[in-house]
Amino acid sequence: MFDKILIANRGEIALRVIRACREMGIQSVAVHSTADSDAMHVRMADESVCIGPPSSTDSYLSIPAIISACEVTGAQAIHPGYGFLSENAAFVQIVEDHGITFIGPSAEHIRIMGDKITAKETAKALGIPVVPGSAGGVATLDEAKQIGADFGYPVIIKATAGGGGRGMKVATSEAEMERAFLTARSESKAAFGNDEVYIEKYLQKPRHIEIQVFGDGKGTGLHLAERDCSLQRRHQKVFEEAPGPAISDSERARIGKICADAVGKLGYRGAGTIEFLYEDGEFYFIEMNTRLQVEHPVTEAIFGVDLVREQIRVAEGLPLSFGQKDLVINGHAIEVRINAEKLPNFAPSPGKITQYHAPGGLGVRMDSALYDGYTIPPYYDSLIGKLIVHGRDRPEALARLNRALGELIVDGVHTTVPLFHALLQEPDIQSGDYNIHWLERWLAANL
Ligand code: ADP
Repeated sequence: MFDKILIANRGEIALRVIRACREMGIQSVAVHSTADSDAMHVRMADESVCIGPPSSTDSYLSIPAIISACEVTGAQAIHPGYGFLSENAAFVQIVEDHGITFIGPSAEHIRIMGDKITAKETAKALGIPVVPGSAGGVATLDEAKQIGADFGYPVIIKATAGGGGRGMKVATSEAEMERAFLTARSESKAAFGNDEVYIEKYLQKPRHIEIQVFGDGKGTGLHLAERDCSLQRRHQKVFEEAPGPAISDSERARIGKICADAVGKLGYRGAGTIEFLYEDGEFYFIEMNTRLQVEHPVTEAIFGVDLVREQIRVAEGLPLSFGQKDLVINGHAIEVRINAEKLPNFAPSPGKITQYHAPGGLGVRMDSALYDGYTIPPYYDSLIGKLIVHGRDRPEALARLNRALGELIVDGVHTTVPLFHALLQEPDIQSGDYNIHWLERWLAANL
């Protein structure tokens, strides 16, 4: 059993892990940059270590600094949160070489899923349906045009090393292929240091449906249903819900079983998310994330389980505390991502919080590292809070979200809260009738 866990992250997710540790009687160690000395995760952890200057490269991404912090404090395990080093296979290898436990999957599984081509091949071999497309990397423009002709336009050119929606370009005709192909390659090179791309059929009106999975690393895999994360801006999620308003019980059971079996066969350890595009009753795999997702609380809400606790348990070699039969959906949950950004352009809005009041009451959860007088530094992600609501059904969750947003006060910076007030007035949001393009179109027409 672990006595002490180091959290290699900041912000709300660091708090999330500290809370799970405290409930399990485990000591927590926060790491922070000099810009985060006054951050909530530092205040809330049992111990803290400064690991470098503001730039993430020299602090939250500095492998030697994080390993040293573990050694200095005697932490036996590292929880990586999401982002930063959470899907870095080399980091996991180094952590294990130092005799420290990584709370997450094996380096090998992270490596396989971090490369979108090997991820797709692996998924296919495990019986998961994938988006039709190139058999692997596409090296030349001629090859790209041939694939366009074979599969039919539109197609999407995607970075093999992709993440965060970068390095993706759509070509609607052969005439557009040259520009799309070359731009995707150069963006991918700039963002990931790797210009390999692959090509997929571009689905016109899919929903983004992702299945939460869990493995014990010993051959048991299970699923915790889906989240619908179709409301996206620039391929980034802003509003997520579970269960998906468009997914039937039989579809859930079918795709859930495929995913659970795949995770079991792989011998996967810990939490993971298998992401699909869903169109006309079919699921098409796009990628697997080998970490806890930002939007995991909606799943926790409908199942009443603590996913971080489960991650820590399986990292300790313990079995999962629930089986597939114990997982019964209760009601409906919605999360909105509150960013320190100024509408309509979503420009980052760091600065001092002059007043903060979190909403409360039945079925309301606010995961945030904000406090009165806190100054949001300009160096990191603009996510400042996640508001999660749970109701007996979708209409109750929507009403609760509206009520909770009304109670929330974040003064001193601009936030994306007005966006959610406006979205809740939309009949399509009220009925759940939206796809991955809905929000971009709505933003173009309304902001
Ligand atoms: P990333 O790892 O950069 O987030 P993903 O492969 O997960 O990339 O795709 C992110 C988003 O891009 C999806 O949720 C979807 O909105 C869009 N997308 C990706 N592949 C396709 C496709 N084949 N057709 C249509 N949209 C796609």
